[in-house]
Amino acid sequence: DAPLAEVDPEIAAVLDGELARQRDTLEMIASENFVPRAVLQAQGSVLTNKYAEGYPGKRYYGGCEQVDIAENLAIDRAKALFGAEYANVQPHSGAQANAAVLHALIRPGDKIMGLELAHGGHLTHGMKINFSGRLYDVAGYGVDPQSYRIEMDEVRKRALEHRPDVIIAGWSAYPRELDFAAFREIADEVGAKLWVDMAHFAGLVAAGLHPSPVPHADVVSSTVHKTIGGPRSGFILSSDEHAKKLNSAVFPGQQGGPLMHVIAGKAVAFKIAGTEAFVERQERTRRGARIIAERLGQADVAGTGVSVLTGGTDVHLVLVDLRNSAMDGQQAEDLLHSVGITVNRNAVPFDPRPPRVTSGLRIGTPALATRGFGDAEFTEVADIIAAALRDGTSADAEALRARVATLTADFPLYPGLSQ
Ligand code: PLP
Repeated sequence: DAPLAEVDPEIAAVLDGELARQRDTLEMIASENFVPRAVLQAQGSVLTNKYAEGYPGKRYYGGCEQVDIAENLAIDRAKALFGAEYANVQPHSGAQANAAVLHALIRPGDKIMGLELAHGGHLTHGMKINFSGRLYDVAGYGVDPQSYRIEMDEVRKRALEHRPDVIIAGWSAYPRELDFAAFREIADEVGAKLWVDMAHFAGLVAAGLHPSPVPHADVVSSTVHKTIGGPRSGFILSSDEHAKKLNSAVFPGQQGGPLMHVIAGKAVAFKIAGTEAFVERQERTRRGARIIAERLGQADVAGTGVSVLTGGTDVHLVLVDLRNSAMDGQQAEDLLHSVGITVNRNAVPFDPRPPRVTSGLRIGTPALATRGFGDAEFTEVADIIAAALRDGTSADAEALRARVATLTADFPLYPGLSQ
């Protein structure tokens, strides 16, 4: 029973190094967050030892009395949080939740229609070499070349043209709210099922700051680790109508034994997501993104060819358009990394640069909001990013790094924690 540092000093050093990295930099990858200590505890617990194939009360293994309690708590809390009749909390990840959704709703060879990957869609919505592109016939819709928004007239036109069996609403890189009622109408018109993948904006939905897809969609899937800020994993919501098919699509359709330590962590995350403090955090998340969008839209930055797609944001992220900037996505990502800000480069719609380079950045605020940042800190972060993007290689990296260090010192992460 020796501690990790003794059993495996190399891995212990990775944990220490990663904790230091998370503490000392500004994490602005839009799909990341910091889980609370309570979730770390649940995930690092003896529940990791337990096999529990099946569902609570109907397991294929003995000794499931404790993990049944955990899974039922996670299910009940997810249903209450999102006002859904049915929840499945077993998907190991968002991608596996999505595989199960399609497995339940349609058959291989049937047609799906989602937002194009190059316009902000996700791999599991029909990318060629993903399971979704290999198993299903794929049609897509894109954003409008002028507004960079999903225009529902165009979605309808595409749906009438392609007659998909499933329409997918959801995104990995898109800064605006979706019109779920309009998606529902179109799905009904063409006889398709509507699946909403709210992986990114689920925390905003839980807080009541974003329209809920639950009343409109046949099935809703999500991750738990982005805006919700829980363990890395997925879940599925629906009405009772699809319950049986979805349960069997997750297990045994896609997965074997559920990760009970992660499911316990999900239960904790859903409990926290029902609190006032969570709502307040989501408000800071969204306001922070707006502050960054506004600052990057100002003349001194815009004059250097940097702009914000759609001119702003409704959610927790901002998409920066560098097509007219001398700097490409890779250079901008590297520059921000060098001053202690972690973001990811991201292709913008109609991007002329190759996917490994790109002409965009995706900048998200959930992790910093969890760290405690409010308007004043997000304004300072926005100014640091603006200075870096405006000045490019001539930016005073040392001065910017010092400003980042002040912010990280003022908002300590996991105080008292050592691995
Ligand atoms: N769905 C969307 C919209 C996503 O953005 C992501 C993750 O980036 C996923 C699904 C997949 O989640 P995971 O990485 O947990 O498989």
